[in-house]
Amino acid sequence: CGIVGYVGHRQALDVVLNGLHRLEYRGYDSAGVAVLDGLGELHVARKAGRIANLEASLDSTGRDAFDGTAAVGHTRWATHGPPADRNSHPHTDTSGRVAVVHNGIIENFAELRAELESEGVELASDTDTESVAHLVARAYANGATAGDLAASVRAVCRRLEGAFTLVVTHADVPDEIVAARRSSPLVVGVGDGEHFVASDVAAFIDHTRQAVELGQDQLVVIGRDGYEVTDFAGEQATARPFTVDWDL
Ligand code: GLU
Repeated sequence: CGIVGYVGHRQALDVVLNGLHRLEYRGYDSAGVAVLDGLGELHVARKAGRIANLEASLDSTGRDAFDGTAAVGHTRWATHGPPADRNSHPHTDTSGRVAVVHNGIIENFAELRAELESEGVELASDTDTESVAHLVARAYANGATAGDLAASVRAVCRRLEGAFTLVVTHADVPDEIVAARRSSPLVVGVGDGEHFVASDVAAFIDHTRQAVELGQDQLVVIGRDGYEVTDFAGEQATARPFTVDWDL
């Protein structure tokens, strides 16, 4: 599938939709976006079918609600749950304040779903991904990781088995996007007052050629003015910077 995340100074919806088009070759049975509006709200749109379906749906509801300078987007190659609007990414927690997009397969998802259900959480999709949104929301709300999105995502990643690139947003933290990877690709695009995360540099090559490749079990926090890489334990980590020197 294709993943894009953006924090910067442009209309994030446009950047993310453009990035998704660049990645469309990776999978196309659904597409979705989540935009942080800067007023503390998260706006999600997702549709089965090609990106054009998502764009038609955004045009019919109006794009005004999707004004904002931070967003994530996804094109899905379904592995768990049929192609359908409800299984399209981004997936949110019950409050709708956490949004997650995922590339890969969470092998222990059945166990995580059962745990959430036993605690009274109602899951809205058939995917292996949705549990991650609920788990991050809970980690962000309670305990040692409360109020720290990166620490919450790290704590959840340590519980996951399988292959994943995850990109996570929280409406409480509108200027920050957290992304993590294990056995699935994740690159950062470094711009001037803007940063990108994506499954492939093609997603941001229109904007910057300065990129950073994350290593196994690493997490990155991007903001407008920088990025920070750690391992899943929270230790500072080094990722490989490179320059994209080819043309699309
Ligand atoms: N396993 C997830 C799903 O089926 C993500 C698939 C993907 O990589 O697009 O929704």
